[in-house]
Amino acid sequence: MGEWFRRLIGRPGTVDLGPYRRLLGQVGDREPTVRELPDEELTASVTELRADESVAGADRFPTDKLVEFSALAREAARRALDERPFDVQLLGMMAMLSGNVIEMATGEGKTLVGALTSAGYAIRGRRVHIASVNDYLARRDAEWMRPVYDLLGVSVGWIGQDSTADERRAAYACDVCYGAVSELGFDVLRDRLAYEESELVVPEPDVLIVDEADSVLVDEARVPLVLAGAIEQSAADPALAELVKGLGRGVHYEIEEDARAAHLTNAGIDRVEAALGGIDLYGVEHMATLTAVNLALYAHALVERDVDYIVRDGRIQLIDDNRGRVATLQRWPDGLHAAVEAKEGLVTSESGEVLDTTTIQALVRRYPTVCGMTGTAVAVAEQLREFYELEVAVVPPNVPCIRKDEPDRLYVTRDDKEDALVAHISSVHGEGRPILIGTLDVAESERLARRLRRAGLECSVLNAKNDAEEAAIIAEAGREGAITVSTQMAGRGTDIRLGGRDAQDHDRVAEIGGLYVIGTGRYSSSRLDDQLRGRAGRQGDPGGSVFFTSFEDDVIVRHASDTAVPSADPKTGRIEDAGGKWSMNHAQRVAEGELLELHRNTWRYNKLVEVQRSTVLEYRNKVLHSDLADKELAERCSERHAELLGEVGAEVLAAAARQIVLYHLDQRWSEHFALLTELREGIHLRALGRRNPLDEFNRDAVPPFLNLLAEVREQAAETFRSVTITPEGVDLAASGLKRPTATWTYLVRDDQFDEGERFMSTMKRAMRRPK
Ligand code: ADP
Ligand code: MG
Repeated sequence: MGEWFRRLIGRPGTVDLGPYRRLLGQVGDREPTVRELPDEELTASVTELRADESVAGADRFPTDKLVEFSALAREAARRALDERPFDVQLLGMMAMLSGNVIEMATGEGKTLVGALTSAGYAIRGRRVHIASVNDYLARRDAEWMRPVYDLLGVSVGWIGQDSTADERRAAYACDVCYGAVSELGFDVLRDRLAYEESELVVPEPDVLIVDEADSVLVDEARVPLVLAGAIEQSAADPALAELVKGLGRGVHYEIEEDARAAHLTNAGIDRVEAALGGIDLYGVEHMATLTAVNLALYAHALVERDVDYIVRDGRIQLIDDNRGRVATLQRWPDGLHAAVEAKEGLVTSESGEVLDTTTIQALVRRYPTVCGMTGTAVAVAEQLREFYELEVAVVPPNVPCIRKDEPDRLYVTRDDKEDALVAHISSVHGEGRPILIGTLDVAESERLARRLRRAGLECSVLNAKNDAEEAAIIAEAGREGAITVSTQMAGRGTDIRLGGRDAQDHDRVAEIGGLYVIGTGRYSSSRLDDQLRGRAGRQGDPGGSVFFTSFEDDVIVRHASDTAVPSADPKTGRIEDAGGKWSMNHAQRVAEGELLELHRNTWRYNKLVEVQRSTVLEYRNKVLHSDLADKELAERCSERHAELLGEVGAEVLAAAARQIVLYHLDQRWSEHFALLTELREGIHLRALGRRNPLDEFNRDAVPPFLNLLAEVREQAAETFRSVTITPEGVDLAASGLKRPTATWTYLVRDDQFDEGERFMSTMKRAMRRPK
C-alpha cells in the first residue's frame, strides 16, 4: 500500500472553510470605513459590539457581527503591530471561534491569530485561557499582543511559575490570560486544597485556546501533574552508589536486551553481600537494602547523564527523552531520584506525599470550549476527535510553501551517517547558507557540535538551558553562515527569519537557498519530523530539508530490530535500496502505533479515576461554598454542636466544621489515590494470568471507594466531638491533624504504563533471587 494511499484513507475529513471564505469579501469592504476611525472610536465600536444582545452570551457570532468584528480586529492589529492580518489569518480565527483546531504552518503568524480569536471570545462574554508551551512564551505572547488587546478594549494577563497567588488572581480576572499549560493545571490542583473560598485562585473554566495543540493535546496528554505535600526525604546511601560503580557489566550485573532493566548476577550478589558485611541480601529483614541496591544499580547502569538528565545548580534535571529538553520540576519516582542524586554526589532534595494529580488531558477537558492551533494537526486529527471531540481545519499558507524536502539519506552505521552528515554540512555551509540541525537528544547535540568544531565549523548549540536564551539563539539561526544545533523542541515558538532577527540580509540569504534544515534521525513520529522541517521555508521563503538516518538509529533498533540491512555502498555505507526506506517508515509507524496505544490505555484507566475524583470534588465544592459541613455535623453530633454554638457563635463554628470535613476528605482521597496507584502498578502482573487488567483494575478500585464519603463524615464527626474550638477557630494541628506545611508541584514523565511500570516490574523481577 503506497504512502499516499495510507494517508488518503487515514485522513479524516477536515472542517470546510468555505463558509468563512465567503465572508472575507465583506470584511474587506468594511476596511476603508474602519480605517478612518480614530483609535477611541475603534475601541468604542468593539465595546458596542460587546454590548450587543445578539453577541453577548451567544453560542456563535451572528454572521454580520463576525464580519464587523473581523474588520475591527484586523484594523487594531494593523495599527498596534503594523501587521495587517492576512486573509488566511482571519480564516484561522473564524475556524477557532467555532471551536476547531487549526493547522497553520510555522511562521504564518498563529500568535496573532490566537490573540484575535481570544478577543472574539471575550467580546461574546467568554473568559479565555491561552495555554502556551512554557512560561517564557506565555509572557512573551501576552506582552507582544497587549497593544492589540488595548485597542480592542480587551484586558490581558499572564501567569508564570513565580507568580504569587494574588498575581494569579489578577491575571485570571482579565478577559484573556496566558499561561503554560502546566501552570494552569497546578493552579487547579492547588485550589483543591483550599479551606476557604477566599483562598481560591482559578475561576470557572470557560474557553481554552491551546498553542502547539498537537504537542499539548497528544504528546503531553498523558503527563501527570502532581501536587505533593512537603515532607523530608531520606537520602539514598552514597556508599551504595560507590559500591555499584565498582560493579562490572556482564560480570556483576546484566542489562536486559531492551535496556530497560538491570539485575545482579550471582557474582554481583556475592560481591554486594560481602561489601555490606556478609548480609543475606534476599533475607526478609534486608528488603529495604535490596531495594536500595537495585535503585542504585538502576541509577548507575540505566540512567545516563546528559541523555536522561543533566546536573545544573547542584540539582538533577530530567531531560524529556521525546524532545531532548529539560523538564523543569519533573522527577522520577522518589527512590530513583534520590539514587541518582547519590550517584552524582548531590544533596537530596525534598520529597513529598502525593496529595492529588491530574493529567493535561483531564485539565483540558474541564473547559467547555476548546480550540487550538499548530503547524501539524492533520496527522493527529483522529486522536483529537477520539479524545477531545475536536475537528481540524486546514488553513493554507498566505504564500505557497516552496521549501524543498529532499529524500532521506540512509546509512548502515551511525558512524557512516555522521561522517556524511559533517561532510554535507561543510559543503552547504561553504555556500554561506544558514543551517539548522535537529538532533534527537542533548548528548547527540554535544557530540555533533564537537565533531563540527573539530572539522573547523563553528556552531551554536541549544542545550535545553533556558527558554529565553534559546529563543535569542534560535532567532539568529537564519543569519548567513550560521550553523545551529538544537534538539527538536528547543526554541519552539520563536520565528526564524532569513538574514537574522532583524531580517536585514533577508534577500541575500534567500538567494542562496534560504534556511536548510537537517535532521540527524527520524523522530518517533513523522509529525515531529514535519515540525522540524517546518522551521524552514516560512511565509513563502526558499528553504530546504533533509534527514540523515542509519540502521543503528533508535527508531529502527527499538521498533524494527529484526529487519535485514539492505546492501550498501561499501565505501560510504550509504543505502540506496528502496527497501531501506520502507523499513525506516515502517519502524516509525510502529512507534506511532505504540504511542497511540499507550495514550488509549492511560485514557481508559484514568476514566474511572476521574469519575471517583469528580464525585469527591463535587462534595468538596459543596462543603467549601456552603454550610453543608456545619449542617451535617449538627445532625450527627447535635449536643456537642449546640454546646459549642453557645460558646463561639455560628460563624466560627461553621468555619471549624468546614475545615474538619475538608481535612478528612483530602486525607482520605490522598490515601485512596495511593491505593489506586498501587493497584495500577500491580495490575500488569495479573495480565500474565490472562485476565484483562483493565477489568481487574475497575473491579478492585470500586469497592474501597463506595464508603469513602461515609467514612469521611464519620471521621469528621469523631474529630468534632473531641477537638477544641475557641473563638479564634479550630486548631487542627493541636489535635494531631496536620496539613502539609507546604505544597509543591511537578510533572511526572514516566507514568505507570511505560517507564514507571517497566521500572516497577524491573524492581520486582530483580528482587527475586536469580537461580
Ligand atoms: P507561528 O506561531 O505561526 O509560527 P508567529 O506568530 O511566531 O508564527 O509569527 C511569525 C512571524 O510573522 C512574526 O514575526 C510575526 O511578527 C509575523 N507576522 C504575523 N502576522 C503577520 C502579518 N499579518 N503581517 C506581517 N507579519 C506577520
Ligand atoms: Mg507559534
